[in-house]
Amino acid sequence: MNPAIVSSTYSQETARCPYCGAKTALELPVNYRPVFASCDGCAKRFIAERLAEGFQVMTEEEAPCSSNPDCREIEIGGSDEE
Ligand SMILES: [Zn+2]
Repeated sequence: MNPAIVSSTYSQETARCPYCGAKTALELPVNYRPVFASCDGCAKRFIAERLAEGFQVMTEEEAPCSSNPDCREIEIGGSDEE
């Protein structure tokens, strides 16, 4: 295992808050999992998701379940009740 690969599990990005437009730093996983970030300007929580090129940010209200970390956790948690 190359330690350089392990340490780059997240990349530092700068996004624009979907609520107020303020620039906010966030850490984006390299494995395409959506994550929550909180805005430096308005303190609201929003979702950031890596794309094939770059990344996108969206509000929790507009995010589909597949892009919502909470929703994905519920789906995964429900599947091992069987
Ligand atoms: Zn904001």
